[in-house]
Amino acid sequence: MIDIHSHILPGVDDGAQSMTESIEMARAAVQEGIDTIVATPHHQNGAFDNYKNDILLQVSELNRALEEEDIPLTVLPGQETRINGGMVEDLQKDEILPINESNYVFVEFPHDQVPSYASNLLFNLQVEGYQPVIVHPERNLQIQDNPNLLYSFVKNGAASQVTAGSLTGKFGRAAKKLSYQLIESNLIHLIASDAHNAKKRAFHMKEAYSEISKNYGQSAMHYFFENAQYMIENQTLASDPPEHVKKKKVLGIF
Ligand code: FE
Repeated sequence: MIDIHSHILPGVDDGAQSMTESIEMARAAVQEGIDTIVATPHHQNGAFDNYKNDILLQVSELNRALEEEDIPLTVLPGQETRINGGMVEDLQKDEILPINESNYVFVEFPHDQVPSYASNLLFNLQVEGYQPVIVHPERNLQIQDNPNLLYSFVKNGAASQVTAGSLTGKFGRAAKKLSYQLIESNLIHLIASDAHNAKKRAFHMKEAYSEISKNYGQSAMHYFFENAQYMIENQTLASDPPEHVKKKKVLGIF
């Protein structure tokens, strides 16, 4: 299994605080069935900056440590960049690191809102040949209030990633309900852990995928599995035509 979003690099953000914690996370990941994990440290989120060249170095150091510990996990380089007007320029300056050096660029919105320039920026990234991937839209308050904001972004070419823990209820009822609504509207292309540690912000990937399989069948599970593979190989993601989010019950529960 591939996990495309994690904070497993030691001491660079609010994820693993030390190599010991990174190793602990790596063991937890392997227990969940993860064999490949993308390290996506925060960048320009107001608290943490992690530049491309530093991340590349730190990822190879972590891989070396995992090899020494005999942990069967491969770490790939990535970055989680908070949306800002300079993203295109920073890509050109080689400061931003797309997922595994592909064309897929993570875009994180602030927790409480979606900036008004977001659609312009998502467009400009695509003009430059990048594929923006909106991370954890289900945890954004403005998208919770107006899910069709995400519809317009996806309709206009963005991809989107839901958090495994949202599918299992770890981020509360609103995030859980919205996650399933977004999946049912074909607005989600990927599932990832966004794990920060092995305890309170753990992986939940196994459980999330089993929920997907239970609710939508094996084919839905494979769709998400394959898209993670496509992303790290820089291939085109599978997608179904995006639909507006309707105010209907999901899973017959919410
Ligand atoms: Fe994250």
